[in-house]
Amino acid sequence: MVSDPVFHPWSAQAKVAQETVAGGAGAWFWNQAGERWLDLHSQLGNLNLGHQHPAVVAAIREQAGRLCTLAPSFRAEVRDEAARLILEVAPAGSRSVLFTTGGAEAVEHALRMARVATGRPKILAAHRSYHGATEGAMGVTGDPRRWPLPTTGAGTVRFSGPYRYRSDFHASTDAEERDRALDHLRRLVAYEGPASIAAVIVEPVVGSNGVLVPPDGYLAGVRALCDEHGILLIADEVMTGFGRCGAWFASDLWQVRPDLTTFAKGVNSGYVPVGGVVVGERVADHFAERPYPGGLTYSGHPLACASIVASIGVLRDEGLIERAARLGATVVRPLLDDLAARLPVVGEVRGTGLAWAIELVADRATREPLVPYDAPGRPHPRMVEILRACRARGVWPFVAANRVHLFPPLVIDEDDLRAGVAEVGAALTG
Ligand code: PMP
Repeated sequence: MVSDPVFHPWSAQAKVAQETVAGGAGAWFWNQAGERWLDLHSQLGNLNLGHQHPAVVAAIREQAGRLCTLAPSFRAEVRDEAARLILEVAPAGSRSVLFTTGGAEAVEHALRMARVATGRPKILAAHRSYHGATEGAMGVTGDPRRWPLPTTGAGTVRFSGPYRYRSDFHASTDAEERDRALDHLRRLVAYEGPASIAAVIVEPVVGSNGVLVPPDGYLAGVRALCDEHGILLIADEVMTGFGRCGAWFASDLWQVRPDLTTFAKGVNSGYVPVGGVVVGERVADHFAERPYPGGLTYSGHPLACASIVASIGVLRDEGLIERAARLGATVVRPLLDDLAARLPVVGEVRGTGLAWAIELVADRATREPLVPYDAPGRPHPRMVEILRACRARGVWPFVAANRVHLFPPLVIDEDDLRAGVAEVGAALTG
């Protein structure tokens, strides 16, 4: 008998064993018994500002005292301000923001906008990708989380993105990987018929599938291919947006302007559920005189918007995005390079800003993964063991497939970051 009143996502209900969390502050969280962990997980990559940032908590309180709910058909200053601030930091050419209540909904609406605006049915999506668990977002997700579903992705055509460590293109340099991945995409567009393709959707830096940072020139190449054929480029920045990769958006790392950019998580550190789509000029122009067929009761929720206004203010005022870039380059990268040099179980380390992955292997020479590609919701016992060892050492990373991901809050204390990475290394040593 299952007695848990909560139905748990991605889980066999009888087998859930979760930690009960009592509170958090900054980069730390704890349970009732007072055990504390350094949050290198950031609650699924959310907590750019860490737990309980006082400015954001105060903004939510203040807004709650004034107005908690407002239908999207009304205007509110806080909603306008949130959209205005997002546009100030969004890639050039962005015109407006559709607010949703999370990442998957943002992807749903980006897909719909692309299909309606172009009048074309197909979406090209990457194998190593995650875009959300609703029908359309799962339809473009490439990773094994879709495997148990009876059907996914009518109109979706999947392609391979760059991943030099496990190259689908037998490439041995970044330049080869980039050129061959672009050539593969170009051929796919030709086979599928460019005039039938509404959009290519990419995570500019692939997040939960292993922090895959593409070679320089790849994203610009995808942009150019899209432009050649009137195909829209959707950047899914739900995990990468608002500083995680050391830039406001990961697309900025290569100065690429997507037509549609989805966001969630980092926009307000997840304090109130929210996400959205930054709409570029081409799609904005399409809907200037034609009604957009879609909406959500909680679109532009006042508490969410207040938290966004405060969060963007903190990201700016505290210089957290530049800090993430600096900490990634000067603290995390050298520490992880050192781990890779010392520990045979580490196949590759990679990342940018404060998004990192340690890929574990059974054999360095053959690059055989430490554990097989996992079935959704069933992490391999060896990876469960590694997470347990990390927890015993006071650090809580994000573990998926044969990887340990480090997504520390952007506010993390530098000494805590150094100590945290060292503890992860010690946990991997056994
Ligand atoms: N896109 C990406 C890139 C994500 O990482 C996620 C969540 N991990 C989503 C979409 C889905 O967001 P949500 O869980 O808020 O629906």
